[in-house]
This record gives sequence, structure tokens and C-alpha cells, in this order.
Amino acid sequence: MIYEDYYIFTPGPVKMSDEILEIGAKQTPYFRNSKFSEVTFRCEAGLLKMVNAPEGSRVIFLTASGTAGMESVIMNLLTKEDKALVVNGGGFGRRFVDICEVHEIPHTNFEVKDTNLSDIADSAPQGEHTALVVNAHETSVGHLYDLEAMGTYAREKNLFFIVDAISMLVTDPIDMSAQNIDVIIASSQKGLALPPALTMVILSPRAIERVQNIKNLYFNFQDYLRNGERGQTPYTPAVTVMLQLEVRLAQIEREGGVQASIAKAREVAEYFRKSIAELPLKFYTPYMPNAMTTLTPTDGKSAMDIVNDLEEQYKVMVCPNGGAERDIIFRVSHMGDMTREYVDVLIDAMYKYYGMERK
Ligand SMILES: *Cc1c(COP(=O)(O)O)cnc(C)c1O
Repeated sequence: MIYEDYYIFTPGPVKMSDEILEIGAKQTPYFRNSKFSEVTFRCEAGLLKMVNAPEGSRVIFLTASGTAGMESVIMNLLTKEDKALVVNGGGFGRRFVDICEVHEIPHTNFEVKDTNLSDIADSAPQGEHTALVVNAHETSVGHLYDLEAMGTYAREKNLFFIVDAISMLVTDPIDMSAQNIDVIIASSQKGLALPPALTMVILSPRAIERVQNIKNLYFNFQDYLRNGERGQTPYTPAVTVMLQLEVRLAQIEREGGVQASIAKAREVAEYFRKSIAELPLKFYTPYMPNAMTTLTPTDGKSAMDIVNDLEEQYKVMVCPNGGAERDIIFRVSHMGDMTREYVDVLIDAMYKYYGMERK
């Protein structure tokens, strides 16, 4: 199952650059030494800069998928004394609700639809909450929330603000200081365009103060913070992915910094959306991130059939949805090493698929 000759538009894993792929082909070095500590420090500094973290913030590097980042944040930073307001606008929001249930953290399941919560001050459920939890980009439907408005609300209500930024980091703006964010969860295989395995939790000083002594060995943040002081992790990290992260962060800097990456993602997304305007498809939501476009067929075709046909006939991989949305929507990612030429392959395939001529 090697997808070498496929064109990749799935929302994680995403297309990686050749520079990153080459590192993956090398031997994995030993890591309990100062050379690797330097790698960790550079990764930490690069990530903190990317999100404009307040002075004194730290990064925890977990060898696990993004969900472990979500769960470990809830475990280490919230208690039974808290009451979390959890935004639930799809599969990933529901996952935060499930995590709160498993760990018996009091919470309100704030179900939302057709809103980016720019009106959160009016629409949020009443009641005494201590924390606000959101997936900045609800990847299951391609919906981006208004972090600006949520951050203001969090400050006004003195809420501890936890943001899962896994599928919008590098493609859409996020500013930890300006938006009053206490915790950002990131993961390697989405906007960062690396292989899966590495999850990063960025903690503000306020979050570091909140870290508790929990009954858990592997996900104990106190342990990670202590080891991180010397650029190490308690257990074997995803060494190769860390080496790739170091290079990826340098790549982003070289290309003009994260603002330039965001602008490029926006351009690619707009180019794709404009180019497919003739096709019998409509956008699922007006609140689209640069990271992804979610489409609904308007001619009665099944979204799942479209996904399968595009893969079989044209070797382009877009992403289906499951459950009730199986036939209604499919998703096209703009994350990763995208260029107009690369996106043209998908656009051309879609026109051919519909038997229409691209103008
Ligand atoms: C992909 C993703 C995750 C993590 O999923 P894993 O499969 O555990 O890596 C979490 N939140 C969001 C918003 C995501 O898009």
C-alpha cells in the first residue's frame, strides 16, 4: 500500500515536501545526547514563535496521535472542580465531550451548527464555566471558528482557553497572546505536513501553573516539563519526526514565516474554489478555513461515489465522510506542500469526471 503515484488531498496525512521525505529515508540517530537536545530546543522555540506564545510558555512533545494531545490536556489541566464549556460542532468536538465524560470532568456540551461563534458572547449557554474548549477547525465538516471572538469571551469570563489547532496551524491564523489562549494542541500530520506520530502541547505560563500531579505515567505533564528543561522527553520520542519538524520550521521561516505560509494556503484554497465554480457542487459552510474545502453535490450524485471514482479513475485522493454525511459531503484538503500545478491535477480530474470542459 504505497501511494507514491497518487495525488494527495486528504486532511491528514497530507502531501509532504521532498526535503521532509529525504529525512525519513535516513537512519534514526540515538537521542539521549546534547545534539538531540538542541533539536528539541529549536523545535520548541520555533513552535512558540509560530503561535506568538507569551514569554515563559513551554512545549510538550508526545509520541502519540493528536487525540492523545486532546486527552492528556484534559487529564493534566482540568479537574472535577472545573466546568468546561466544550464546543461541539462535529466529530472532533464530540471527541472532547467524550474525553470529559471518560475523565469525569464536569462540562457543558455546547452543540453548534451553521455558526463560527463570532456571536459567542450571546449564544453561549449560561452557567458558571471555568474553561472553554474548542477545535479551532472542526475538520469533520471543514468549519473554522472565530478565535478572536472566543478569546475575547474567554478573557471577559476568565475562562481557561484550550484550543485544538491541529488542522489549522500553518494554514490559518492563530495568535496565542492576542487571543488569550492558554493551551494549543498541534499534531505532525496535518498543517505541519509531517508523518503522523508527534503531538505537541503548547502551554502558556498560566497553563503550566495549572498542571497537576495526575495518576498517569505516560501522559504526566510534570514529567515532560522537567525533562524538557534539558531538551529531552521521559520516553523515546518520534526521533525522525522531530528531525523533520526542525527542518519544516526552518523551511517555513525561509519561505517568509508563518504569515507567508498562511497567505499561500489562502491563495491555493481560493484558486481551487474559484476554479470549480462551474461544477455541480456547493460549499458546505460559509466558514471555511484555508486548510480545507468541504463540498456537497447538487446533482444528486453520492459524495462517496465521487471520492471513489476520483481515486480509481484519476489517482487523486480526496476525503469521504462517514455516517449520515456519507453521501452528502466530501472534503478537499489544502494543507501541506501544495502548488497551483498540483491542485490543477485535481481540478482537471474533476472536470473530466463531470464530462465538462474547464474554461
Ligand atoms: C486530526 C485531528 C485530530 C487528531 O486525530 P488523530 O487521529 O488522533 O491524530 C484532533 N483534532 C482535530 C481537529 C483533527 O483534525
